[in-house]
Amino acid sequence: MTLRTRFAPSPTGFLHIGGARTALFCCLHTRRHQGTFLLRIEDTDTERSTPEAVEVILEGLRWLGLAPDEAPSFQSDHTARYLAVVQELLAAGHAYICTCSRERLDAVRERQREVGDKPRYDGHCRNRNLTPGPESHVIRFRTPHTGEVEWEDQIQGKICFANSELDDLILVRSDGSPTYNLAVAVDDHDMGITLVIRGEDHISNTPRQIHLFRAMGWEIPAYAHMPLLHGADGAKLSKRHGAVSVLQYREEGFLPTAINNYLARLGWSHGEQEIFTMVELEQLFDVRQLGRSAAIFDRAKLLWINGHHIRAATPDQLLPELAFQLGRLGVDPIPSVEQLARILPEFQARAATMVEMAQKCRFLFIDSVQPYEEKAARKHLLPSMRVPLETLLQAVTAVTEWHFEGVERAFQKVLTAHGLNMGQLAQPLRVVLTGSAASPGIIETMVMLGREKCCQRLQAGLAWMDGGCG
Ligand code: GLU
Repeated sequence: MTLRTRFAPSPTGFLHIGGARTALFCCLHTRRHQGTFLLRIEDTDTERSTPEAVEVILEGLRWLGLAPDEAPSFQSDHTARYLAVVQELLAAGHAYICTCSRERLDAVRERQREVGDKPRYDGHCRNRNLTPGPESHVIRFRTPHTGEVEWEDQIQGKICFANSELDDLILVRSDGSPTYNLAVAVDDHDMGITLVIRGEDHISNTPRQIHLFRAMGWEIPAYAHMPLLHGADGAKLSKRHGAVSVLQYREEGFLPTAINNYLARLGWSHGEQEIFTMVELEQLFDVRQLGRSAAIFDRAKLLWINGHHIRAATPDQLLPELAFQLGRLGVDPIPSVEQLARILPEFQARAATMVEMAQKCRFLFIDSVQPYEEKAARKHLLPSMRVPLETLLQAVTAVTEWHFEGVERAFQKVLTAHGLNMGQLAQPLRVVLTGSAASPGIIETMVMLGREKCCQRLQAGLAWMDGGCG
């Protein structure tokens, strides 16, 4: 039997880092076992589900490289099917009509609380054989009173619920809408899901869903309930811990491969290895190797892993992210692939995020670097440097071959002519070429900028000094 799994987000918000981890585990496990990874949008909560949230989830999955193998399915398209299943359950006696009023249910619950019982439906309508009439009613599942539901969870081990602990679940609300557990069970069956991978917060739903499978005579899928993600303080991950949209991590300059690597290592390991490519994860990851304790989200480690992935990435992998960040910094038009590929190695070694990388290489792609960083200009653009910079402009214009050695020769000539050391000329030149006092090696910077931009910026620098120095 081939493996079929699904990621089933509710589009009531963005795809946050905890949801991304569920999707990742599901996707990696499925790829490792050559199965089919599906996406189901659980949009039955029509008030809270929005098309924008669906789009953000799809975009987040695409960005992480976790796109499903088939077109997504939407629960809102399946309402008629859910209700048809309920008709079958009613006909077979596995479900019944319940007309208990809210007041009655509240009173029952109040009485149960008083005597210390667990609040649950008391089965008042269970054997009344009611038929649907004008009176407001819900449809409930007839949960067996005895026996138990047991399954061998692929992560948690054996889990067992006594049926006496489960009450008669509502399948259809009084407004005619199907409920969550019904929809999930029907879809998991209809989509041919063989393994349900989801957060352990769903463990209590599983016996109810298994009951529905049994009642319908459907084959029950296997289950793997993953431990949840917690913040450093031990509380379930929330916004204040960084449970923001995965797309915000993109904005902050993280690479999708780094996020995936980091998330995979939360609860899973392969020897001592910390850094994994996506291909390695797809070959090695298995949910059955997951630990059972909650994983702690640690941003410092994510940053560390990101630096590794930035250094190890090929230009092809970095280009979309660098182009994205340059766009956010107002660079327009975005440089060509060839241009970016040429400069990447200079910046790759020193950036912890793609934001940092874009900030450092932005000077290459803008028209003017003025105004200069004030402190750098004050310190380095001294009147005494005007003549050497002018000589440099001439030397640069005269360079016949624009490569490292050619540019270096021209630079050295100016140092000798003016009796300067490297730093004395390099720093003012850096300010003029990049707008600040920090950049890669000065010769590399000149080579990357190209002759035309070097000349333009030297001219602009001289003009600034003329103006600035009075
Ligand atoms: N829609 C549920 C959630 O977002 C997941 C349900 C499931 O995986 O069965 O938590």
